Amino acid sequence: MIIKENGVWTYPSGRVRRKGAALEQLRRQCWLQHNETCQNCGERVYYTARFAGDPLAYDMAHIKSRGAGGSDTLENVRCLCHSCHMQEHSGH
Ligand SMILES: [Zn+2]
Repeated sequence: MIIKENGVWTYPSGRVRRKGAALEQLRRQCWLQHNETCQNCGERVYYTARFAGDPLAYDMAHIKSRGAGGSDTLENVRCLCHSCHMQEHSGH
């Protein structure tokens, strides 16, 4: 059974998925926790709720991808600039 509470879905496996405002809240927490700084290149990134596509726009990156069963939790996300996030994906 999946427990759904305020946009946070918790699966029996312990996996956590967030939707809508709950996901956006996590994005903001991640950004603040890492001092608004890209964890890869150290550049300051600006927060935007919308996808900006700008190299220095903040991107929340999953450590273990959602597709691989990763959770939407602070422990499983990193604060990256859009540029580093794209490089990470192109390297795979
Ligand atoms: Zn970066």
